[in-house]
Amino acid sequence: MRKPKNPEKFKAANKAFNEGLRRHPVTGEGLPAFGTNVLTNVINEAGAYPTYNFKEGRYADAGKISGETIAQLETERGGNPTHGCHVGCAIRCSGIFVDKDGNYITKQPEYETVWAHGGNCGICDPDVIARLDFLDDNIGLDTIEMGATIGVAMEAGLLAFGDSAGAIRLVEEVGQGTPLGRILGSGCAFTAKAFGIERAPVVKGQAMPAYDPRAVKGMGVTYATTPMGADHTAGYAVTANILKVGGDVDPLSPAGQVELSRNLQVATAALDATGFCLFIAFAILDQADTFQAMVDTLNGMYDWNLTGDDVAALGKKILSMERDFNRRAGFTAAHDRLPRYFQREALPPHNVTFDVADKHLDSVFNWE
Ligand code: SF4
Repeated sequence: MRKPKNPEKFKAANKAFNEGLRRHPVTGEGLPAFGTNVLTNVINEAGAYPTYNFKEGRYADAGKISGETIAQLETERGGNPTHGCHVGCAIRCSGIFVDKDGNYITKQPEYETVWAHGGNCGICDPDVIARLDFLDDNIGLDTIEMGATIGVAMEAGLLAFGDSAGAIRLVEEVGQGTPLGRILGSGCAFTAKAFGIERAPVVKGQAMPAYDPRAVKGMGVTYATTPMGADHTAGYAVTANILKVGGDVDPLSPAGQVELSRNLQVATAALDATGFCLFIAFAILDQADTFQAMVDTLNGMYDWNLTGDDVAALGKKILSMERDFNRRAGFTAAHDRLPRYFQREALPPHNVTFDVADKHLDSVFNWE
């Protein structure tokens, strides 16, 4: 095991850091009790839960697949809703999903996985979603990409929304490498092209996750502009847009979203480079002393003298390097856009479109 270069400093900082994680309601209560799927009810209530391939913002059966429901099911069956994915995690957002006889099926499906195969496809049976999660993992598929692909296949008429057996069959076909499976296994954008479907929720060829960009506009800015494609983790604006963590920016208005996404993308690029789990972000965004404790933990580990400003500079440098890579690979500002149907089609229940102007999207990386 690696040893801190300054053990005393590391120990004190680590103690304060863990205490800060336990004190924050998201990292100390919500995530440990229900995992990331705690978000199903929250995002659905906010009207931003992409339903039926991003046609609606609320799913009537969300309660059947919520974090609260699945945690209760796991507990009743002898699984475990509160589990660390590695030794020493203070948050423990992971869990173990078992069948009705107590046999292990898969790790507790994450919020994104539950949404991708659940509300996005009109499926509300936790056992079906767990089976799809297992198949994805076993075959080696990203659960967001596969769920979005099935949603597009449903829109194309290959199967009906809500067809659980059909969804399982499609994923199995990917594993078997059938002609249809090879199309689906190439992802959401490819599948939409193959079947002539415009409504493919992708940016830079990557499927969007579980927040409709019209009703959480900060996420829309992140999806459009992050060098990685539609990646929620690259600048998780749900924090200030919905959870009111680290600020309060109206999710339905275009105002303030570029600045929010920019700050989060910078902070996240730096955080990802440290090796810390991204979920500490809730506590460090909200609690200045926990942010400082995180920086001090790094300083104790490596005997550095990092400051908060150094962290921001590191994030900007990483993003500029990623963008430089993309430029050389042929990406331009035209790729920093959402599919145009998000500007055209209003999302119920708030009946909002994505209305952050292109020129504002082009100002996200304003230090370059
Ligand atoms: S390390 Fe992160 S992902 Fe793993 S259990 Fe802890 S909080 Fe969850």
